[in-house]
Amino acid sequence: MPLLISNSAKAFVLSKRMSHPPALKTRLRGVVFDMDGTLTIPVIDFPAMYRAVLGDAEYRRLKAESPSGIDILGHIEAWPPHEKKKAYDAIAEVERQGLQHLQIMPGASELCAVLDSKKIRRGLITRNNKSAVDLFHERFGITFSPALSREFLPYKPDPAPLLHICSLWEVQPDEVIMIGDSLKDDVACGKRAGAFTCLLDQKGIYDSPEYADVEFKPDFKVSSLADVFSVLNVNFDLSP
Ligand SMILES: [Mg+2]
Repeated sequence: MPLLISNSAKAFVLSKRMSHPPALKTRLRGVVFDMDGTLTIPVIDFPAMYRAVLGDAEYRRLKAESPSGIDILGHIEAWPPHEKKKAYDAIAEVERQGLQHLQIMPGASELCAVLDSKKIRRGLITRNNKSAVDLFHERFGITFSPALSREFLPYKPDPAPLLHICSLWEVQPDEVIMIGDSLKDDVACGKRAGAFTCLLDQKGIYDSPEYADVEFKPDFKVSSLADVFSVLNVNFDLSP
């Protein structure tokens, strides 16, 4: 029998794993989330951040060079200490402004509750800093463990943080799914680690032809966190 996802879910399954009969479904041991734009409503003005750090001309040049997104942390890595500090200060200021408007993503609490009921672990990996993660935990009362911020090196899109979480959980990467709104960070991190990946694409921006030939493609794509559980339920064994 074909596996179906309801139209209302608007969930698009991009993996041939869909054709597996139920008996071969992977037992899902853990879900690792991105934070900004995934568990929280996007509040960080990334273009403003990139302009503040790079200047307008350099921002435009880099954006044209890598349309899938700019790796701002990676880009400033090689800068001299003084310029690097200025860049980090500018990034922190944009992040600080974002924190004032922090809101939880619709569907996040419900998804976490259902994962808890299935005894599926929840972790978090973000390129934001630890204080933002602490504030998120405090403000919304949902805790992710482990929660790795950019103080854990190397950060996404390196697979290291995800592999670290798998090792702490004593599970294999292919028993875990990484969920995030960034192709270049979350999907790349997940695929490099050998995990399943689910891209949250609320506005359908990744349907654009410029993303047709990207190196890492997600196994699943959803337009809302509310759709994630149906994707997991259809494609994985969620029994405790
Ligand atoms: Mg994000």
